[in-house]
Parts: sequence; structure tokens; C-alpha cells
Amino acid sequence: MRILVTGGAGFIGSALVRHLIEWTGHEVLNFDKLTYAGTLSTVERVAESDRYRFVQGDVCDAEAVRAAIAGFRPDVITHLAAESHVDRSIDGPGAFIQTNLVGTFVMLSEARVYWQSLEGAARNTFRFHHISTDEVYGSLGKTGLFTEATPYDPRSPYSASKAGSDHLVSAWGHTYGLPVLITNCSNNYGPYHFPEKLIPLMIVKALGGETLPVYGKGDQVRDWLYVEDHVSALVAVFERGAPGRTYNVGGNNEMQNIEVVHAVCAHLDRLRPRPDGKSYAAQIGYVADRPGHDMRYAIDASRIRDELGWEPQETFASGIAKTVEWYLANEDWWRPIVAERQADARRGLPG
Ligand code: NAD
Repeated sequence: MRILVTGGAGFIGSALVRHLIEWTGHEVLNFDKLTYAGTLSTVERVAESDRYRFVQGDVCDAEAVRAAIAGFRPDVITHLAAESHVDRSIDGPGAFIQTNLVGTFVMLSEARVYWQSLEGAARNTFRFHHISTDEVYGSLGKTGLFTEATPYDPRSPYSASKAGSDHLVSAWGHTYGLPVLITNCSNNYGPYHFPEKLIPLMIVKALGGETLPVYGKGDQVRDWLYVEDHVSALVAVFERGAPGRTYNVGGNNEMQNIEVVHAVCAHLDRLRPRPDGKSYAAQIGYVADRPGHDMRYAIDASRIRDELGWEPQETFASGIAKTVEWYLANEDWWRPIVAERQADARRGLPG
């Protein structure tokens, strides 16, 4: 198949692109604006493949999207391009409204025109797949899980923009019959994660001898999924999922943020001990919490397991070990990003 991936230079999109080129026979068009969060170094190792193409473009630019679709004639559009960092959405929500809402509207509009021009099998098998987050469901108490029937209750500008884009996708399915799929996934981690996000940020700060800034008491709970497990879920959904259906994707790995930070420190202690023999955990410092910080997210992923046979391959223990090892072996990738893009600056402060 020909798969158009938006946001394919980012963390999850690039993992999808690498997987499609290295492990399948599909062709890929990577359509990415290359914002602060996008780097072509994430897809360097597949860039020479004759099944891979790249177009630098903005999902808000209808003409650019139209030209990309017309030139590539995709069987599937997987839409990942987004502003993705909650702290940045607190400081500057405008970019989130543009890319996540307006950009998704543009993608849907152009996908619809293209899909309506298709005939026969091509029209029947075309899919528009929107990659979304479990954060659209809001915050849980100590118990309970998000299912696909949980009402949307987004709390941050980021999650509100993703909730709105999910609603647009769903509306294009109901109103125009566009064959849409939505996946709502929990927190991802793994290689090429932009170093402003919790796990890579802790690795970067630890190695730099800086304070490991834990928000509030560090007792917020997230479900963690290794990025390659997310990618295998996405492939299962766009290859075999039922149009109009939503699938929750999660790793069955509920952890408090402070537990995640301790796990990172333990691996660093093992792999690159501090010269003074102390644990990196000695660098942990508690800082002002994120305003409106959701307390707990947890996913019931039984639908995708029962209907599509998908299950994660990594536990948190195995995935975090691989991740810390990857960051230690790939300083060439993240050091320039931290230096040039101020990835490790504190954002989204209260007030
Ligand atoms: P990311 O920030 O690492 O990458 C986003 C990519 O989109 C970048 O390459 C960027 O250049 C590109 N982009 C941004 N604005 C664009 C625009 N206007 N036009 C074209 N390209 C643009 O994000 P990620 O973590 O890889 O997340 C990808 C998707 O998955 C997002 O839609 C996000 O909401 C969703 N998601 C992420 C997680 C997670 O834990 N990271 C979990 C669930 C869902």
C-alpha cells in the first residue's frame, strides 16, 4: 500500500516510518513541516529507500496537502502531525488550535475530495487514520480505566485540541462517509523522543549533573507504552480496523511519575555510574506542579486485543532499559537538539 504519514519526522511518526520501510513492503510519503519537534535525523536510516519520499509541508496549507495527496495517491493517510507538548500548550495554545484543529480539518477536507475521486476497490479500502491520545478522556481517580465509551473531558489546551480534532474526524465519518479510524493511546516512550518529555528530559538532566525536576509530588499516574508497540497497534488498525471505529491503545503499565524517574536513575546508575558513586536519584528535586495537572490516566485496551489481536511486546522494565541504553548510545542525536532548541527549558509554569 501507499501510506501518507503526516508528522513522520517526529517521535511516533518516525518510528512508524522506520517500521514501514524496514519491516513491510509499503511505500511511504512523509509529510512534515519540520517544526522545533521534527528532525529528519529520525528517519535518516531509511531515507535512501526507493519506497520512501519526504515532502516538507504544513497540514494547515490546503494546497500543499492537495498536491502531496495528488502526487502520491495514498491508500491510507495516517495523521500524526500535531503540536504535542502539554507545557507548550499552556504557554501558547494558538499553535495547538492551528495545527491540531485547523490542520486536521484541512487534512479531512483534502482526504474527502481525493476519496470521492476514487473508484471501486480503491474507494472501498481507503482509510483516514487519526492518531490521538488518552488525554481526551480527562483525569481518573484512584480506580477505573478509560474505555472507548468514556465521555470526553479534556483539561489542557493540548488535550482539548486533540479532543476537538477527534470530533472532526468522527463527524467526517458520520456526515460524509469518509472511512475514518481513531486511536487513543497512552504515554509513549522510546528512541528519538524529543528531550522535553519526561523520560528523555530526566536522562539529559541526570547526565548534565542538573536537578531532575519532578512536578508537584510526582504522584501523577500514567500508563506507559513502548513506541514500537504503538506502531504495531497503528499498523493493525489501518490494515484491519473497522471504519468508523475507535481503538484505545495502552501498555498495562501504570506508574507514578516519581517511579518512572527512579527507574531511569537505576538504569543510569548501572550503565554510567556517577563519579562520586552516589545514585542519580540524589539529583531529584520537586518543583512547582503543572497547572491543571491530570492525576491519573489508565487505559482499557481490550477492544484492540480482542478484535485485532494486538498486544504490547514490551513491559515497562524491558522498554525503559532499552530506552536508557539508546540515549546513552545516541548522544549525537540529542545533544545538538538540547543545545539548539532549548528542549530542556521549563515551560507551562503556573500564573
Ligand atoms: P512530536 O511532537 O514528536 O512530533 C510531531 C511532528 O509533527 C513533528 O515532526 C513536527 O514537525 C510535525 N508537525 C507539527 N506541526 C505540523 C504541521 N502544522 N504540519 C506538518 N507537520 C507538523 O509528536 P509525537 O509524540 O510523535 O506525537 C505524534 C502524534 O501522536 C500526535 O498527534 C500526538 O497527539 C499523538 N500522541 C502522542 C503520544 C505521546 O506519548 N507522545 C501519545 C498519544 C498520542
